[in-house]
Amino acid sequence: EEAREALARLVVDVPDFPEPGIVFKDITPLLADPSGFAAVVAALAAGGRDADGVVVVDKVVGMEARGFIFAAPVALALGVGFVPVRKAGKLPRATHGVSYALEYGEATLELHEDAIGAGDRVLVIDDVLATGGTVAATVQLIERCGGVATAAAMLLELSFLPGRATIGDLPLTALMVV
Ligand code: IMP
Repeated sequence: EEAREALARLVVDVPDFPEPGIVFKDITPLLADPSGFAAVVAALAAGGRDADGVVVVDKVVGMEARGFIFAAPVALALGVGFVPVRKAGKLPRATHGVSYALEYGEATLELHEDAIGAGDRVLVIDDVLATGGTVAATVQLIERCGGVATAAAMLLELSFLPGRATIGDLPLTALMVV
């Protein structure tokens, strides 16, 4: 509840960014507010616990770049490792890669091959669920490593886009739906 209140107050709509017709959700005011940021991290971390509060994931994955900001403190809150999913060419060792379609063109995400172990249960964290392409590609990367994406938690879901359909039956919690 505190997290939802913080999001409503501290996520700012920026019209026509990065291009005309897009309303960009700017999370930087939230990051500058320590109690709001803490409430949001705690709410996202709930995605990695069962109803009794027991931690039920082995890793937290965050996607470059805003996903990193939230996934790292969520991993610490749960007492499990943080694993970055990065844009192509940034990770220094052997990687798995998955390409997916963007509105214009294509993007590739990569994950270190040894970052997730066979059978690891993984919580996926990002700031915004839009078309779902980023989450779907991340789930594929986790599966290439032999892991299982068991849940996803986002700050914001844009319900006018087909994100839920794209991610199939992955349980996803969004703290705010617009
Ligand atoms: P998707 O792959 O279309 O679901 O887009 C999700 C990715 O785009 C996330 O990694 C977000 O960080 C980013 N994104 C899309 N729309 C917004 C927005 O309005 N604000 C901030 N990030 C956005």
